[in-house]
Amino acid sequence: MNTITPSPSQKGNDQLKYTLTCVECGSRYPPDALTCSHDNGLLRTHYNTRQLYLQQYKGMGKFLDWLPVDSPLTTQAGPITYKSTGLANELGLSNLYIGFNGYWPQRDAKILTCSFKELEAHPTLQRMCDMGHNKLVLASAGNTARAFAHVSKDYDIDVYIIVSKRGLDKMWLPEQPSDKIHFISLEGDYTDAINLAARVANEVGMRPEGGARNVARRDGMGTVMLDAAVTIGRIPDHYFQSVGSGTGAIAAWEASLRLIADGRFGDKLPKLHMAQNLPFAPIMSAWQHNRREIIEEIDMPDAKEQIKQMYTDVLSNRQPPYSFAGGIYDALCETNGQVYGITNEKAQACKKIFEDAEGIDITAPAAVTAACLIDAVDEGSVGKDDCILLNITAGGVERLKEDYSLFYIEPEVSLDSVDVDMDLIF
Ligand SMILES: *Cc1c(COP(=O)(O)O)cnc(C)c1O
Ligand SMILES: [Zn+2]
Repeated sequence: MNTITPSPSQKGNDQLKYTLTCVECGSRYPPDALTCSHDNGLLRTHYNTRQLYLQQYKGMGKFLDWLPVDSPLTTQAGPITYKSTGLANELGLSNLYIGFNGYWPQRDAKILTCSFKELEAHPTLQRMCDMGHNKLVLASAGNTARAFAHVSKDYDIDVYIIVSKRGLDKMWLPEQPSDKIHFISLEGDYTDAINLAARVANEVGMRPEGGARNVARRDGMGTVMLDAAVTIGRIPDHYFQSVGSGTGAIAAWEASLRLIADGRFGDKLPKLHMAQNLPFAPIMSAWQHNRREIIEEIDMPDAKEQIKQMYTDVLSNRQPPYSFAGGIYDALCETNGQVYGITNEKAQACKKIFEDAEGIDITAPAAVTAACLIDAVDEGSVGKDDCILLNITAGGVERLKEDYSLFYIEPEVSLDSVDVDMDLIF
């Protein structure tokens, strides 16, 4: 990896580390704000450190300068980037880089919950501690729950996690679950879980963590792009990721804007290639209609039925942060982006192609991403010598099982519907 040394002017900087500003109107907000009160625009962090100086931590803590936390992150977990030979040769690409988020000790990939959701969890929980909060409620299709449950062991925070029953098989940890984890399972899909989490936050007076509006989540996921840029030495031409909410893609865009402002990594935004798993593809549908709004009847008719048919419901968000300023629609516009629909069969076939070529197991959402790259190569959306970053958002679960025992988290409460009495939960 490149070692990047700080410019003298950056040393001994004791001002506030960052400010939040609305991407629409530029209004400034205090660190705990989630949305602009004038126009509902997304709030973005502006770090005082314009140039990225890598800290001496092994994991994502090396990007501390551009994470909205006050204390160091000492976790080993972080994104890693390497240049592909196997898949690159297969596809005839000369500059294919893999951003691997998961467990793969030979490549120093040490995310023990095996998905990039852990990159959201570390800064989010640290930031909540910084702000003096000790309770968090969130919804998950499985990977977020696993990530926050695992990371909560390092913090004095009770996490209430609502997971739809389809996600139960993803509720394992690489250690014994701690008693800070309160796991609630729900009959319904991921979006039902999101709605119940919002109700819980509201009725019990917990501050909602904000989802896509939480800058700790976005800047945490943005470290995938930062790691790629410092490893490659430049911002890639293309960024590939499978999306449900698209928050990771927004994060990649925002990280690229910071890298451009840094001045040492190029001045061009990467083109965002987002993949959805058919038949449920509301972002793809709205984007292909050139619309800033998602219209339920057109873009996700019979959503619940569509979601049941997906290869991976991790990508099944029914309320993606698409329309508001700074959301996915803007990210696609500004990066000349593209959205793909990937069938189950294609994703399954590409899972095997990737695993055979690269020698590591990947999960279903990452297989959708691999399929997206293969489609893009086939249709000529990328040049053979373009610099490409493939975000493998989750992998190495099978590899992890060789080294760790998995412990399943048992629900404290199992609910049959969203319309429940809060006393059941607390
Ligand atoms: C959440 C998740 C995604 C989708 O990420 P978004 O940017 O939130 O749409 C993709 N892959 C994996 C493994 C995930 O857990
Ligand atoms: Zn605003």
